[in-house]
Amino acid sequence: MESSTPIENLRSFIDVPEDHDFPIQNLPYGIFAPAGGGDPRPGAAIGDHIVDLRALESEGFLATGAAGQSRVFDSDSLNGFMAGGPRVWKSVRMRLQQLLSADNATIRDGSEVLQNVLHDRKSARMLLPARIGDYTDFYSSREHATNVGTMFRGKENALMPNWLHLPVGYHGRASSIVISGTDVRRPWGQTKPDDSPPVHGPSRLLDFELEMGFFVGEGNELGSPIPIDEVSKHIFGLVLVNDWSARDIQKWEYVPLGPFLGKSFATTISPWIVTLDALEPFRCEGPGQDPAPLPYLTSSEARAYDIHLEVGIRTEDMSDASVVCRSNFRYMYWNICQQLAHHTMNGCNARPGDLMASGTISGPTPRSYGSMLELSWRGTKPVVLSNGEERKFILDGDSVVMRGWAQGDGYRIGFGEAAGRVTPA
Ligand code: CA
Repeated sequence: MESSTPIENLRSFIDVPEDHDFPIQNLPYGIFAPAGGGDPRPGAAIGDHIVDLRALESEGFLATGAAGQSRVFDSDSLNGFMAGGPRVWKSVRMRLQQLLSADNATIRDGSEVLQNVLHDRKSARMLLPARIGDYTDFYSSREHATNVGTMFRGKENALMPNWLHLPVGYHGRASSIVISGTDVRRPWGQTKPDDSPPVHGPSRLLDFELEMGFFVGEGNELGSPIPIDEVSKHIFGLVLVNDWSARDIQKWEYVPLGPFLGKSFATTISPWIVTLDALEPFRCEGPGQDPAPLPYLTSSEARAYDIHLEVGIRTEDMSDASVVCRSNFRYMYWNICQQLAHHTMNGCNARPGDLMASGTISGPTPRSYGSMLELSWRGTKPVVLSNGEERKFILDGDSVVMRGWAQGDGYRIGFGEAAGRVTPA
């Protein structure tokens, strides 16, 4: 690849339609097990194929580490590659774009060994892309925080006094993060009906939250905050996140320490991590911030991303999901760099493979709200689906399907999907 080639002119010998999520401009990373019982390994998606990075590296086509270092792709997780930092990420990405470009014969016309580095994506099984040590969920959409605050405290007190000064978050549960396609069992919990004592039973108000999350690349030492203008070098890439939420459990348990069992039963993520390098053409200004954030949260660069997002519900009687929400990642008030700068400013150490989710991404209009709580306004306005069924919250047998993509000139940088079906308690 000549560095002078405009990104939209890059073409691969693998045919990828214009509206496909995974053109040569994208090359997201994940962990896959090939059809036929192969063991899990790192791959990069292109069209309907997966490039086997472990095989490419062992054949000597990817120089990923310094001499004497073990191979970063000889692993069933991406943690080692994430820890390598931007220099390694960029060199692997450049090399892959070179090897996959239309005018490069190395793989296209190569030996059988090289042609075997391409696997069929649709028959592969996807696994979690990293060992996720810690998971944090922020609450960074002003529209979402205002909607929820208005429902529970009234319009005057919708935003808590700290909200415009710092990115609020809580420590989530890493062990129950699941890959797209995994069924989610309706949780049991303790809830409190309005006029009677607490009861124990299946949640009746199961909800989704439309979010995106970023994976931490290189970490920071305990005690050493990451300065705001260094933060982007520590962010590996983004995935779609569904922060499943049981509203009735959450409502009763959350005072005074915040979310607990109403959230920790499951979090679904999309399997392909889209890198900040692939998203660079879509970096943009976020919403204006007033009051101005403190200096440790003030960046010299635009750090929002223009990523279209949508959520569909597919009931048992439907073949295609009915879209109930269209939003955009650029609506986030606090951006990913402010989130990680804030997270580490007390000296807390982030580590490779940590997942940081954005919080529900609601936009300014009712059809851009990122949860059923908001779309149905606490169950007072049922959402009508494409086949005429109505939903206030999510029922057993429903699948929630999240999709996202950044639209380029003749290509898109897509995320695939984060989907999960709800099974009975
Ligand atoms: Ca959330």
